[in-house]
Amino acid sequence: MKKLLKTLIVFIFGAILVSCQPRYQYIEDKINITATTNVMADLANEIGGENVSVYALMAAGIDPHQYIARPSDYTALNKADMILVSGLNLEGKMTSIFESYDKQSNKFVLSIGNKILSESSDELKSLLIEDENFGGNYDPHFWFDIDLYKEAAKYVFEALKELDNTNASYYEGRLNNYLLELNTLNEEIILNLSSIENTDRFLITAHDAFQYFGNKYDFKVYSLQGLSTEDEVSPSDIREVVSVVKEHNVKAIFPETSVPVETITSVKEALSRDGYDVVVGGNLYSDSLGDSDDDNTYIKMYLKNVNIILKAFDESKGA
Ligand SMILES: [Zn+2]
Repeated sequence: MKKLLKTLIVFIFGAILVSCQPRYQYIEDKINITATTNVMADLANEIGGENVSVYALMAAGIDPHQYIARPSDYTALNKADMILVSGLNLEGKMTSIFESYDKQSNKFVLSIGNKILSESSDELKSLLIEDENFGGNYDPHFWFDIDLYKEAAKYVFEALKELDNTNASYYEGRLNNYLLELNTLNEEIILNLSSIENTDRFLITAHDAFQYFGNKYDFKVYSLQGLSTEDEVSPSDIREVVSVVKEHNVKAIFPETSVPVETITSVKEALSRDGYDVVVGGNLYSDSLGDSDDDNTYIKMYLKNVNIILKAFDESKGA
């Protein structure tokens, strides 16, 4: 019954958000890219600029782990000049679809995470996080490591160069600009987070999307669900997180935009039953960008996440 209710909540949550998704349009004189998540779509727009028309299958707030292709998605996939996939099983229910497109000789499928795993330098590959709880696979949320995201940008550039060689220098210029912007972003994040003491650097979230963030910026990361939102949250998961909060005097816990808030609320409630108070921060962006002017690109999303974290830590000081 509980599982049915959860499925229903996910379905309704998804249906409301899907209704905001624009219709697919193929534009004749452009490179048409169909991306899975809006994080990948943003990357394609950054590198492709005005030469590309990019469509994201998943609208803002959609959970890619649970996403099942809709009939209309096949139009966008069939017509695409390039299919851009985040990969490493992030889109776990669509993997076989991409494999079958990949076998079609006229279809360009770029799965970024898989490409990093198979072709990047050993130094970059070593940044990928292996996780035995995720079927022995790698943690798919690689975009939170800016170095891996920069590598993703290079792969998108290479793909566009191959598809549209006459405009290669245009794409290269955009890539170089974007890499500089990502360097600046990294510096800004380090500076902004410097106000948080090392001993306070704990991040507790709904699902395990922030390990790359944690590795990069020295946060210990705990979550209620595993790497996929498909994992059920059990009372023992809640107890475990509650004991981490108590043991380390954790200041704040965070819901996410693409995961229902209930699990984080249960931690707050369990803590208050034991006489502990913890700040519930704003919704972090994990697997999806937003669709507003202040959260609809990767760079804006990242800065917004950092602000959400800082605000919650500040609030906890006042508490
Ligand atoms: Zn995720």
